[in-house]
Amino acid sequence: MKRLAGVLAAGLLAAGCSSGATSVAAPSSAPTSTASTTTAAVVSTTTSTALATTTSTTVAPSTTTSTTLAPTTTAAPTTTAGSTNDFLGEEVLGTSAGGRPIIAMHRGTAGGTVVLVVGVIHGNENAGLGIVDQLRTMPIPPGIDLWLLAEMNPDGVANDVRHNGNGVDLNRNFPHDWTQIGEPGYWEYSGTGPASEPETQAFMAFVDRVQPELTLWYHQDLYRISPSSRRDGPLRVRYAELTGLPVLSVSGGTYTGVAATWVRNTHTPAMSFIVELGPTLSGAEAAVHAQAVLAISQMVVDGEV
Ligand SMILES: [Zn+2]
Repeated sequence: MKRLAGVLAAGLLAAGCSSGATSVAAPSSAPTSTASTTTAAVVSTTTSTALATTTSTTVAPSTTTSTTLAPTTTAAPTTTAGSTNDFLGEEVLGTSAGGRPIIAMHRGTAGGTVVLVVGVIHGNENAGLGIVDQLRTMPIPPGIDLWLLAEMNPDGVANDVRHNGNGVDLNRNFPHDWTQIGEPGYWEYSGTGPASEPETQAFMAFVDRVQPELTLWYHQDLYRISPSSRRDGPLRVRYAELTGLPVLSVSGGTYTGVAATWVRNTHTPAMSFIVELGPTLSGAEAAVHAQAVLAISQMVVDGEV
């Protein structure tokens, strides 16, 4: 959870790393109810206990996860006897500045519409981990090739700080529209150069390889989704409707070198947007968000955007 230590007061305002694609704000306060309608029933028999044990470690400090994984490759699901699950593997994408593994889990339909969910990039904004945890085990509708990157910033999560082990704001370090912001110690310090950080490099190589059509990012705690007139605009609106978040612009920071913007602008027509959660997220709310992820993924699978 995000702790409101002093430094964070500033971080609060600018936690939003939005994307610049702000157009018409369409405040929508929609019903929160229907999240479960479309996606719930597909692969219901899966109870991957083996999965659950290996994956639940993300909540714990990431050092524990590293011990269970081989350094590089895709780990096949080994002990899921009798269960038909859609676990496709787990990979270490790289190593953080502080020496922690950056781990992605792969589920769903290989070769389907690639959707990537990033739980945490600002380490002290980790409510998204609850959503990723839900997505690790819930049934995934056919056609969705789902990647779950719980912690893009494992150093920040371990230390409960915004930055990586080098003191860099990873969400200002991407090479699209990168600018020098601040210096070490500054809350939006953008690093020594574009993609100077190992986390950024690992993420870029990963995206270049798997080519997600939709990438979702969780931040806190502005409680909103920024509107967009681009291709992902309808997905943002739908996600907001399903979760009760308002669609409102984000401001208060310097939005250069932002990860979501890099994905959108370098992998066109890929879609990528930020969900700003509130200060806390209950388990029930995390489940609603996870269903919303699957619902908008289904929209992409169905060609609705
Ligand atoms: Zn943030």
